Amino acid sequence: MTPRVTHPSSSLIPEASDRPGDDPIFALNAEARQRAAAGESVINATLGALMEDDGTLAIMPVVAEVQAQIPVGQAASYAPIAGDPPYLAAVVRDIFGDSPLTEQAVAVATPGGSGAVHNAIVNFLEPGDALLTTDFYWGPYSIMADHTRRRVETFEMFSDSGRFNGPAFAAALDALMETQGRALVILNTPCHNPTGYTLDDEDWDAVVEALLAASKKGAVALLVDHAYAKFGGATSDTWVRHVEGLGDAVTLLVAWTVSKSFAQYGARVGALVAVHSDPVERSRLENALSYSCRGTWSNCNHLGLLTIAKILSTPELSARIDAERERLRTMLARRVEVFNEHASRAGLRYPRYEGGFFVTVFTEDSVGVASRMRDAGVFVVPVEGAVRLALCSTTAEQVPLVVAALEVALGAPAASEGTSR
Ligand code: PLP
Repeated sequence: MTPRVTHPSSSLIPEASDRPGDDPIFALNAEARQRAAAGESVINATLGALMEDDGTLAIMPVVAEVQAQIPVGQAASYAPIAGDPPYLAAVVRDIFGDSPLTEQAVAVATPGGSGAVHNAIVNFLEPGDALLTTDFYWGPYSIMADHTRRRVETFEMFSDSGRFNGPAFAAALDALMETQGRALVILNTPCHNPTGYTLDDEDWDAVVEALLAASKKGAVALLVDHAYAKFGGATSDTWVRHVEGLGDAVTLLVAWTVSKSFAQYGARVGALVAVHSDPVERSRLENALSYSCRGTWSNCNHLGLLTIAKILSTPELSARIDAERERLRTMLARRVEVFNEHASRAGLRYPRYEGGFFVTVFTEDSVGVASRMRDAGVFVVPVEGAVRLALCSTTAEQVPLVVAALEVALGAPAASEGTSR
């Protein structure tokens, strides 16, 4: 019989009594800041927030301006459980634009993309089921799955040629349909965290084909994690055209967030969008998602929802936010350009990288490489099979130094295995 408590002095249930403490990325960031404060010259390429070249958090001033215009009484009131309808309509249009999918979408407000991922996990997987995602993935997916008594299964993201591994995806999805009879696939694109990869047209053709084949065996949902989408290269919106081809065979979901796209990490404003052509199924989806909002966080930050709705639905404000974001996108694109130039010259192994907050450089000795770089004052995050560099938090001038430190660290003999992603 399972003991009632793991620690005699603890009233926590057993599964909660030995949770890990500090998030490893935040712990690395804390060490980098401490060493910098002590006068050491460090480069901190760990955190997932876009920083200006002077090291301050990049923000978009129009957001604060509009926040200040929202009547206090409105901001202080509860938001509707599912979010204000004008906010939801504006989010759907922001994602799908003129695509016919706009008319077939329902949405609920969530606390950031995290809330959207949580909401998808609890509504499209049974307890015990596994979601399917790439083998490089954002760690909280597995915390959210574990926390809600689901699991994560992965497929090899890249083939030997460095491209998205369509056959591995199709095989893993097919195997999951055999064992589970349903699937929730999470693809974080454009600008995947941690690799920086954006699925291109050829990748999407393979993804859509595999999803449609799997849908003949049971219920399939695809969640596009859109967190970094606004920082992608020129072709980062073409995925919409591809997912139009899923029809109703696969339920399309999108996790949308203002954290990166409006530089509002603390606002906790996001949405889960679901698409179906049948109004009856749409209403089922809307009710299910809204029920989960009520059962998890009730409602979201009303000031945030009202602010974003106003910006997205006022052409003049939208134009200003686009211009402010474009300045930040250009700053990041310069860092990406410098990275590609130096990393390819150094012969580093990394996936196609056209934009986004992060890139990973492959190495079997990720912990050893990150540790040697840390000794040299350059902080990066080790994941299994790679180290993650947050170009969002390094300046273009620092990028060649990061690459040089990486080259030196990679040249040293392997010391240990990588940690989990
Ligand atoms: N998805 C990915 C891949 C992320 O990296 C993040 C944030 O780091 C999120 C979703 C969600 O972030 P938030 O909850 O702040 O919107």
